Amino acid sequence: MRRIPFFLSMKGCPSRCVYCDQREITGAEPPSPRDVAETIFTRSRGISSGEGQETPSPEPFEVCFFGGSFTCLPRPLLREYLQSFRKAPPGSLLRFSTHPRCLDDASLLEELETYPISAAELGAASLDARVLIASHRNHDGETVLSGIEKLRARNMPVGVQLMLGLPEQDLSSALEDLRRLAVLPDSRQLPLRLYPCLVLAGTELERRFHQGRYEPLSVEDAAIQGGRWFLLAKKLEFPVLRIGLQETVSLRNSVVAGPYHPALGELVRGSALALELAETTPRGPWVVPAAQRSLLTGHGGWGIRLLSRITGAEPVEVLRLLFWTGEEKNQRRSDSSKSMPGNKGNGPHGAKVDNEERKVP
Ligand code: SF4
Repeated sequence: MRRIPFFLSMKGCPSRCVYCDQREITGAEPPSPRDVAETIFTRSRGISSGEGQETPSPEPFEVCFFGGSFTCLPRPLLREYLQSFRKAPPGSLLRFSTHPRCLDDASLLEELETYPISAAELGAASLDARVLIASHRNHDGETVLSGIEKLRARNMPVGVQLMLGLPEQDLSSALEDLRRLAVLPDSRQLPLRLYPCLVLAGTELERRFHQGRYEPLSVEDAAIQGGRWFLLAKKLEFPVLRIGLQETVSLRNSVVAGPYHPALGELVRGSALALELAETTPRGPWVVPAAQRSLLTGHGGWGIRLLSRITGAEPVEVLRLLFWTGEEKNQRRSDSSKSMPGNKGNGPHGAKVDNEERKVP
């Protein structure tokens, strides 16, 4: 289904989180309900016949309201946005993100329940009281858990957005968030998104950063912590929809510090794979589906270098102990060596890489 995202840039938010500047992240002013209705109408018109006739598109959309706190909006304004959704073709679905604090009003949930909701995404950030206070989130972990239950009681599919690298947050706190969510029934029906905490210009976090009161994660730390987080999420059977922020020019220009990387999700998945391999077979050999090759060899051979660091084996030795299954016949291994930093067709540290296809032991 095609998706039309609208970014409501902090509209309705009950407080300003210390790291947030949605206007910078999205690079746009929030659209009014009228703007939303016009966009939906335009996108629904379909292709002109060339005789001034336009065939309405029968194809439904998923209309998404992100970047703000949808259920915290004043009720008349919320209704206007909901009305604009009605301009979408039949079969269209509604997705929104919101703040956990704004799910107490039973009549509001009753009203929302009448819409075809594909997902209500709860911007939780964390469930740890210390982290939430330090981030000016204005809610606690219990509010997140009860919010999920309230939405589920209305048959609305729920997703949760969590963060990594927040003030006062460490890896064990981020992992504990997952364990607390896993206490709720059916983790498989609770998709997650994980965002890195970045220092953006003009935020409270930027002030703290310059005063030496906040130390952001490096890209490398975020990739490794994210890898551990991803492994636990997998073990607890949460679907992980996204890791990392959507890259925009506006975001790139406003990042002052922190783990900003356009492929952070890939780095995290590469870390998770390296950590898993080292845990299950500390000395190798490692048999990996060829479809996952780029997780280890991409981005300068990040996964291979991490596996090398954890196991103590030289990168060239790690490469020797890796066996890819399901790859095409005659597929060469030189792509892995090319992606290692400083190599041009040779293996790590300039060692020649064996390009012969090898048999799995
Ligand atoms: S609730 Fe979300 S959109 Fe609103 S200020 Fe906090 S992080 Fe930003």
